[in-house]
Amino acid sequence: SAPRRPDSQLGRLSLRGVSRAYGAHTALHPLDLDITGGEFIALLGPSGCGKTTALNCLAGLLPLTAGEIELDGRRVDTLPPEKRGFGMVFQNYALFPHLTVRANVAFGLKMRGVAKAEIERRVAEVLSLVQLSEHAAKHPAQLSGGQQQRVAIARAIVTEPALVLMDEPLSNLDAALRLTMRGEIRRIHQDFGLTTVYVTHDQEEALSLADRLVVLHDGRVSQIGTPAELYERPADPHVAAFMGYRNLLPLRVSSVDGSTVVAEGDGLRVVGTAAGEPLLVGQDALVAIRPEDLRPAAEGESAVGEAVAEIVEYHGRVLHVEAATAEGRRLHLKAHESVRPGDRLRVAVDAERALVFRSEGALLLE
Ligand code: ATP
Repeated sequence: SAPRRPDSQLGRLSLRGVSRAYGAHTALHPLDLDITGGEFIALLGPSGCGKTTALNCLAGLLPLTAGEIELDGRRVDTLPPEKRGFGMVFQNYALFPHLTVRANVAFGLKMRGVAKAEIERRVAEVLSLVQLSEHAAKHPAQLSGGQQQRVAIARAIVTEPALVLMDEPLSNLDAALRLTMRGEIRRIHQDFGLTTVYVTHDQEEALSLADRLVVLHDGRVSQIGTPAELYERPADPHVAAFMGYRNLLPLRVSSVDGSTVVAEGDGLRVVGTAAGEPLLVGQDALVAIRPEDLRPAAEGESAVGEAVAEIVEYHGRVLHVEAATAEGRRLHLKAHESVRPGDRLRVAVDAERALVFRSEGALLLE
C-alpha cells in the first residue's frame, strides 16, 4: 500500500549546530542535518560515539548545549518532550504491565482526548498493522519479546507523530527475532511513512533499514549518505571499518598516478584507489579491503603478498580465511575453493576494491 505521507510535506526535520557537552566533555559536536519527511535515518557508530546523546537531544530528554531543531519549519528544541509529541521506542521504555495490549496502544490517544470511537478504530488499525490483533486483550507479560516490541512500536506510531525515535529497539531480542523484527520495522515504515530516526551500533541493521545513515565517531559526523554510498565509498577508515572493511593495512605510499596509488610495507604491495584526502609519495596510509575482495591470486596474476592460512571457517559456499604474512600481518579473505590451515596463499585484490586512506597517525582501530 502507498505510504501515508508520499508527498514528504510533513515530518521535515532540520538540525542546526546541535551540540551537547557534559562538563568539559563534548559528547556531540555541532551537528547539521536535514531530514526529509518520511525519511528513515539511522544514527550509527560504536559505543560512546554520541548517538544516544543525539537522540535524547531530539527527544527533549537532554537540553542542547547549542543549536536549534526545527520540525516543519517550527522550532521544537525549546519545547518539553511531551509537547514535541514524538513517538518513542526505547530499549527501556517499558509497556504498562497492568494494561492490556489494546489499552497500552490506546494510551497516547486517550491522553490527547481523542474520541472513543476514533481511538477504537485507530488502535484496531495499528494492531492489525503490527499483526497483534488477536493478542489485543492480553497483558504484556503474556507476550513474547518480539510481540512486546511490536506493541511498543504500535504505541509509538498510533498517534501518527511527526517523528518516531528508536534507540536500539531490537537489542534485547535474540538473533532470529531481531531479523524478523527488522523486516517488520521496514514494512511498518513503508506503510506509515513516518519520519524515523533510529539509533544502532549494528551496521547491518542500519544498512538494511535506513534511507540514509549518519555515522558518528567521537561525537563528530564521519559521513552521511545512503547505504550504497557508505558501502562503496566510505569517507574515512572509521566508516570503512564499520562497513565491513576488515583488512585495514598500515602501509606507505610508494607511487601516485591520478587516483591509482601503490602502497607498500612488510612484504605487501597493494595497487589501490585513493579515497578521502589526496595522498603523496612517502605518506603513511591505511589500505582498506573487504574480506570478500581479497582472494587467492590466479596463476600469473600479480599478488598483494603471501600469507599462510591459519584459521579456516566454513560458511556455506564460501570459506572465511584468516592468514598471516611472514612479517606477522593478518589478512582476512574469502575463498571459494578449498583452503586448509597451513596452506601458503598468494592473495590478490582488484585496484578499485582497495581503498587507500591517508593515515591520521593517532587512529586507533580494532
Ligand atoms: P552507547 O552505544 O554505548 O549507548 P552512544 O554512542 O549512545 O553509546 P552516548 O551515550 O551518546 O554514546 O555518549 C557519548 C559520550 O558522552 C560518551 O563518551 C559518554 O561517556 C558521555 N556521556 C554520556 N552521558 C553522560 C553523562 N550523563 N555524563 C557525562 N558523560 C556522559
